[in-house]
Amino acid sequence: MIKIKNVSKYFGEKAALKNINLEIYDGETLAIIGGSGSGKSTLLRLMIGLIQPSEGEIWIGDDEISKMTEEQITKVRLKMGMVFQYSALFDSMSVGENVAFGLVEHTKLSESEIKKIVREKLKQVGLEGVENLMPNELSGGMKKRVSLARAIAFEPEIIFYDEPSSGLDPIMTNKIDELIIETQRALKVISVVVTHDMVSACRIANRIAMIYNGALIAVDTVENFKKINDPRVKEFFRVID
Ligand code: ADP
Repeated sequence: MIKIKNVSKYFGEKAALKNINLEIYDGETLAIIGGSGSGKSTLLRLMIGLIQPSEGEIWIGDDEISKMTEEQITKVRLKMGMVFQYSALFDSMSVGENVAFGLVEHTKLSESEIKKIVREKLKQVGLEGVENLMPNELSGGMKKRVSLARAIAFEPEIIFYDEPSSGLDPIMTNKIDELIIETQRALKVISVVVTHDMVSACRIANRIAMIYNGALIAVDTVENFKKINDPRVKEFFRVID
């Protein structure tokens, strides 16, 4: 479980997040939505431990990460898979090397064992026989798949997705949404998806958390979310219609 307790984050005078309280349960997919500049990425970066909160606590299972050293956080991060916006693949490495990267860095598995895992994980995201291609030979959707294969190579307990459908056309967005749902079913992880795409959020998530101007203004199931009367929520639904 992830637990965010009374978390605020200031950049200078500016409060990017104000007193956030949020629990994300085992096995659920939570979509974090909100307009540009609302604080979604800041919340994601706090949960991954890339930045520290100005106030409050962040629990990843039994670990409170907000004051951890880089070395300590690296260990907790092994439980996490991350699929970043624009895929963040290493351009100079082949697809296979990209997927293998964490396994080479953090395990003592043999080359043949790693190759086998890479093949399995690529298959799981619907890609086969692409190990020797370079990232620049792939479409945007394929890059996202490779990025997901890399994220699940470690059998993480949590997968974070940062704007997984950005830069993709609607058909590819659909496919990536389906892949997120399938991966969730297969691995039974916690999935946290940061998105400004409400349609996508409704499709993939069990619950939605909406951030508005640094404050968490609503957290509820997709069904209940549609009934919320707050004009800030309604506006967000209207904008994406
Ligand atoms: P979102 O992901 O919803 O677009 P962000 O979390 O990126 O929003 O940003 C929230 C607010 O915090 C914005 O006003 C942004 O300008 C500010 N912010 C984010 N990161 C930094 C930073 N490193 N330094 C200063 N301000 C930042």
